[in-house]
Amino acid sequence: MSRKDTILRAAQRTAKEARSAASRKTRMKEESGIPPHRHCSICWKPIPLARMPPACNNQECSDSWAKKDKARKRLTIMMYLFPAFAILFLVINILQT
Ligand SMILES: [Zn+2]
Repeated sequence: MSRKDTILRAAQRTAKEARSAASRKTRMKEESGIPPHRHCSICWKPIPLARMPPACNNQECSDSWAKKDKARKRLTIMMYLFPAFAILFLVINILQT
């Protein structure tokens, strides 16, 4: 058997293994029987996929999510505001000299 043959066989074996591993994975997903869903972002209880806000029926969770969302929005505004100020001060500095 030539070296080329050996390499070819090894490659085919690896491809076969990869294929079987992939099919195993998809089979596992199908067999779990759990419909697509998402989780409450606070307590990780399963909730419907389209639920907005992503929190369960618990009042504490929706309050907590609202608080988190507000903080996230504030952070996003800051992320734009700080560079804007930096550029503004830079422009003022350049204009003054
Ligand atoms: Zn929850």
